[in-house]
Amino acid sequence: MTPSRERTGADDAANDPCGVPGCGAPAARHLSLAEARKVFHDMPEKGRRGPLCRDHYREWKKATKESRKLDRLAW
Ligand SMILES: [Zn+2]
Repeated sequence: MTPSRERTGADDAANDPCGVPGCGAPAARHLSLAEARKVFHDMPEKGRRGPLCRDHYREWKKATKESRKLDRLAW
């Protein structure tokens, strides 16, 4: 445990670990849990937010982009 650093409101988010099981990297982005679970189905339903680390956020972005594309292809 490290002694608490300066606490700013924005720091809260930085202390969240990524919500993807087995990852545990510091969260870079927060999505709503529902949004995050569209891609990462294993995310535990804990609270309302879906914290994602940078890598998983990228993955999420890519996955949602692709599913949007697929929607369009379904036309
Ligand atoms: Zn992650």
